[in-house]
Amino acid sequence: MSLTSGAGTDQARVPPEVIETRDPRTDTLLAVVPDQPAHEVRSAVARARAVAPVWAAAGPRQRRDHLLAVRDRLIDRAELLTETIVAETGKQPAEALTTELMAVCETIEWYARNAERVLADRAVAPGTLAHKRAWVRHEPLGVVGVISPWNYPFTLSMTPLVSALFAGNAVVLKPSEVTPTVGLAIAELFDDDRWGNLVQVVTGGGATGEALVRSGVDKVVFTGSVATGKRVMAAAADTLTPVLLELGGKDPMIVCADADVERAARGAVWGAFQNSGQTCMSVERVYVERAVADEFIRRVVVLTGDIRHGGSGGDIGSMTFAPQVDVVEAHLADAVGKGARVLVGGSRIERRGLWFEPTVVVDVDHRMDLMTEETFGPVLPIMVVDDAEEALRLANDSRYGLNSSVWTGDRARGEDLAARIQAGNVCINDCIVSYAICGLPFGGVKESGIGRVHGPEGLLEFTATKSVMAPRFAVPREPWWFPVPRHLDRLAVLGMRLRFRRRRVRSSHS
Ligand code: NAD
Repeated sequence: MSLTSGAGTDQARVPPEVIETRDPRTDTLLAVVPDQPAHEVRSAVARARAVAPVWAAAGPRQRRDHLLAVRDRLIDRAELLTETIVAETGKQPAEALTTELMAVCETIEWYARNAERVLADRAVAPGTLAHKRAWVRHEPLGVVGVISPWNYPFTLSMTPLVSALFAGNAVVLKPSEVTPTVGLAIAELFDDDRWGNLVQVVTGGGATGEALVRSGVDKVVFTGSVATGKRVMAAAADTLTPVLLELGGKDPMIVCADADVERAARGAVWGAFQNSGQTCMSVERVYVERAVADEFIRRVVVLTGDIRHGGSGGDIGSMTFAPQVDVVEAHLADAVGKGARVLVGGSRIERRGLWFEPTVVVDVDHRMDLMTEETFGPVLPIMVVDDAEEALRLANDSRYGLNSSVWTGDRARGEDLAARIQAGNVCINDCIVSYAICGLPFGGVKESGIGRVHGPEGLLEFTATKSVMAPRFAVPREPWWFPVPRHLDRLAVLGMRLRFRRRRVRSSHS
């Protein structure tokens, strides 16, 4: 099937009904999937809505058992899933296995252990209303729409998806049009007789995504670029649909003079180039204190030159999405035009597919897009600074705030810088991997997003909070009901003085 018919005659053009997906390593056609229209999205939501109350009523234990069975199916199909992910993204098999399949197993494991506790009713002290009981319930929302990107097509679909399921919701997933067959493989993981309609997958591009946002789902989880995230939020505003937005980053790495320079250099090279730099939490800019800058840059250059590119057992694969390679080239050209120097790499690799050399750049500053806009490719710009305070000021001089890292031999200094960096996540003497600790909520500040996945917060995102109060024992009437008692004003003053005045209060955890 071709995307257009009657080539050459404008009037014969028809709207595309299918999407072609290609292997970015070789530019060969992989599959053709439907570009689903809005009415099919609404039908998928209706099917999910029909099963949602049954799934909600199943309770946390049955839900856990079903999701553990899905995890086992995932493990049984690990090789096949890896092949599917690798073919559509160009990443290396080891990357797919660790950062996609294992990462999702970790998430399922954490929620299997913790969801029941996190979702349990929570008693609340009634304060002055001592004759009342009060508690909080966490109820499922209904149907959650998940829209995912192409860089981790499995993890970034499955993490919100299984979180929403653990919380008792049904899900409609719209995978990226660049990686739709990974989305279809996810649908197969959930394909069983009992809960067949619980997870619906619709394929298509931006219009299909927008149709999902406007379909009446009870929450939208969007992972992708800031620009699209803003469009999603604007569309969701029409129906006041709540959104969870996991958006782009420009993650800074601060290397202090007292850091283990060898470890920091290795960390920078891995953090910048794993998944060919196409991670929302990639190290996208380094600020290194002058005292160790030469040594640090020397090691980074050597280590970058040693990276094995592609092939079986290589460290990194191809890039995934052709327009992203254009962004990488544009950022490099802008930086070089403003005085930056490329020490390693800097070009596309002359072979079929989307291959780009791991690239190290110095003499950079914040006039350059390379230091302020998300590059999302295998480029590591390094800026030399006078001290850690200058590094912190530059790190915070950004509209993004996703992940970040601080490298120092001084624990107190590391924790102080971590506290002052403007980001949703920070790693001390490491980078990126905080996402692997599933008890840690993950998400951004500033334009990097709204809301969290992972941890208790990431589960409660998929619930409606209901506050309940009830009598502790029966009383015929409340003292403040009409007719208002004659001396209520004086009683109120007396009551306030007795209960609150000069009373020392300790913080409480309940
Ligand atoms: P993108 O914004 O282009 O697309 C993401 C998804 O949104 C795709 O499924 C796309 O079809 C859909 N979409 C497009 N237009 C839409 C619309 N108007 N309404 C609804 N959906 C629409 O992003 P991408 O290029 O696929 O992914 C790369 C971006 O994702 C980078 O910016 C990266 O930093 C970000 N990202 C963020 C995180 C995070 O957790 N914060 C993780 C991974 C990637």
